[in-house]
Amino acid sequence: MPELPEVETTRRGLHPHLVGRVIVDAQIHQGFERLCLNTNVKELTHRLIGQRIIDTHRYGKYLIFSLSSGDSFVVHLRMTGALVLREPGTLTGKYERARLSLESTMNCMFETISFQDVRRFGTWNVVGDFEDGLAVNIGPDALSPNFSPDHLVSTLRRKSGTIKSALLDQSTVAGLGNIYVDEICFMAGLDPRKRSNTISKKKTKELFIAIQDTLSRALERGGASFKDYVNAHGVPGGALDHCYVYGRVGMNCYKCDNTIKKIKIVGRGTHYCPKCQRR
Ligand SMILES: [Zn+2]
Repeated sequence: MPELPEVETTRRGLHPHLVGRVIVDAQIHQGFERLCLNTNVKELTHRLIGQRIIDTHRYGKYLIFSLSSGDSFVVHLRMTGALVLREPGTLTGKYERARLSLESTMNCMFETISFQDVRRFGTWNVVGDFEDGLAVNIGPDALSPNFSPDHLVSTLRRKSGTIKSALLDQSTVAGLGNIYVDEICFMAGLDPRKRSNTISKKKTKELFIAIQDTLSRALERGGASFKDYVNAHGVPGGALDHCYVYGRVGMNCYKCDNTIKKIKIVGRGTHYCPKCQRR
């Protein structure tokens, strides 16, 4: 599932080609109307067509495009979604669910944004205000200045479940998913089964640094391509090749040579090193 580094990689790839462009057409392909979240095809396309894209943002795993109307076009890639830039004449791919057509310009060869989604869980929505609408139950974005060690300390103190489930919970911090939570727990030397409210203040601050470092390094590598993630130019990311524990069950830990184990926590496959992650 695309997490913060993958969504941000997509945003960075789209941004220079989209800002200032007018959406001249929006098509949700037949049979994929479920893409529209809290809206329908008619309303969604009405609020998109004719609008100029003013800016692009990201909040957690949400992609947000500010429109000239003042609305925000909000995309969530969910399991397997990808927004890919296309040149004129490019065929509709097998997994394309929707597309936006942009006004043609001398400066950019791309005229279409194709939304591809194998599993079909991705969503599109147009809202008046992202912060007031979708972001109500979401914590601060993991790479924003609003996310601080103190915020993490006070939030984890209130949670009695495992640290793994607390970090997956978007109300704790927005942007993390299964891959990076495993990597972050390894970096912080934390057993993913440890109860959130039993982690010391000092250890929580180390965890905060592990979150920032892990996400920043993954972003530098263009995100991770597990299953179907591709960036705005259709290219997979390379972060998965650099994981310490995720996807490495049965292999040797790079730090201690012990065997990486895989268990289930809140139904999610969880990778960890029993020797490095004892606390
Ligand atoms: Zn180890």
